[in-house]
Amino acid sequence: MTSFDELPIRDDLRGLKPYGAPQAHVRVELNVNENTHPVPADVVDDIMRRIHVALGTINRYPDREFTALREALAGYLGHGLTAENMWAANGSNEVIQQLLQAFGGPGRSVLAFPPTYSMHSIIAAGTGTQWIPAQRDAEFEISPATAVAAIQAHQPDIVFFCTPNNPTGTPVSVETIAAAYDATEGIVFVDEAYAEFAPEGEPTALTLLEGRPRLVISRTMSKAFAFAGARVGYLAADPAVADALRLVRLPYHLSALTQAAAEGALAHTPAMLAMVDDIRGQRDRLVRELAVLGYTPYPSSANFVLFGGVRDPQDVFDKLLAQGIIIRDIGLPHHLRVTAGTEAETTEFLDALAALD
Ligand code: PMP
Repeated sequence: MTSFDELPIRDDLRGLKPYGAPQAHVRVELNVNENTHPVPADVVDDIMRRIHVALGTINRYPDREFTALREALAGYLGHGLTAENMWAANGSNEVIQQLLQAFGGPGRSVLAFPPTYSMHSIIAAGTGTQWIPAQRDAEFEISPATAVAAIQAHQPDIVFFCTPNNPTGTPVSVETIAAAYDATEGIVFVDEAYAEFAPEGEPTALTLLEGRPRLVISRTMSKAFAFAGARVGYLAADPAVADALRLVRLPYHLSALTQAAAEGALAHTPAMLAMVDDIRGQRDRLVRELAVLGYTPYPSSANFVLFGGVRDPQDVFDKLLAQGIIIRDIGLPHHLRVTAGTEAETTEFLDALAALD
């Protein structure tokens, strides 16, 4: 078999690995931080009705500006945002890709604070953007001083934050984000994929948007909204950012079916988000019970928990998988990450872990 390395591929892509979360369809899937509760049946019915309507004109290209969706997203986020502030794509992964196509690329750099979401560096590589990893403080935190020092040392074109951070669950304070903004003339990007799971009162970077045209905040419908299969991610920023993304996006990148489904889900926001409190409860339970089992879980503001103290992560992963339970080995020595699922799924995971020798 030919390896891509043998093809005339770009030199800077040689030897790289693609996104690698194992995809195993097993009984208990707690590996990719989905909302494991299905969309309520009456919401599915309304989405079906809307898709049916969209199919009536499926011979035509969809609204290239996805105006109704942008209005619905602005209404959902609040904070005085309007459709002009919003942009969407096929998952926040594509939003980030478009962002780096417009603001990154060859000769430009992105500064980030690993361990963080693996796709950030993969998208940087794919767009030819230099990836500069910077140190976090103890407990995976990033103080304003730490962020500013890294920016001053590396002078990046773009700074990436992820709050709550995947895979650690750690929040990044608005003070850190504001200080980073003041320390750079570049784009400050904040990935808030898990924002809805944060404890009440933990402020979002959305509160910083006013008067900061280089600040870009992404969200997704894949997590709290239980809509991962639909592929809808979005960002909030100054309208000029959306104008920049119009230069690199493919025309009609959001299908009419995607737009209809997302509008339907947003029309039922309370029902779609009904399980968030429950998931927060399971997350907090995971932290408590993993500690009782002798592991070292990190406090989490997201829908997953990173825990250390695992002698052999690969062995634990394999033994759980053999029982139909998949979690995530994120490559951090002696650590594993588990998604907070339903109460039953969480119980299955904890019981299976407790029973391991
Ligand atoms: N950001 C973070 C931090 C994530 O963990 C994920 C998914 N695991 C994404 C973005 C991408 O989500 P999507 O493309 O489904 O919106």
